[in-house]
Amino acid sequence: MKKILIVDDSSTIRKLVKYILKKQEYMISEAEDGLDAMEKLGNLEADLIIVDLNMPNMDGIEFVKNLRSNYYHMDTPVIMLTTTKDEDLKRDAMLAGVNLFLNKPVQPNFLIYKVESLLKGE
Ligand SMILES: [Mg+2]
Repeated sequence: MKKILIVDDSSTIRKLVKYILKKQEYMISEAEDGLDAMEKLGNLEADLIIVDLNMPNMDGIEFVKNLRSNYYHMDTPVIMLTTTKDEDLKRDAMLAGVNLFLNKPVQPNFLIYKVESLLKGE
């Protein structure tokens, strides 16, 4: 079973993403910010990570930079899900190693399709 980690400071968004992905058989874990996610990844595997941009303690871009410097997560697919439409932030996120940048609210079927494609390595 594929493991997905959802990182967002909004519990509502975490619940929503979890709900969207519910029909697929994924094992889903949650973290409330980048720091919490880095700590959890110490003893948790993830095949794909869905991360917010704006979060306290460690934001999404810092988190992805940290993730990419970790041997075990250099290639783990990351989807950034955010309300920002700021092109500079989007570029920073892509440079940090984000695979896909999506704006909230996301079309549920589109998110499912992208998650499946990234998990297949497409
Ligand atoms: Mg946020």
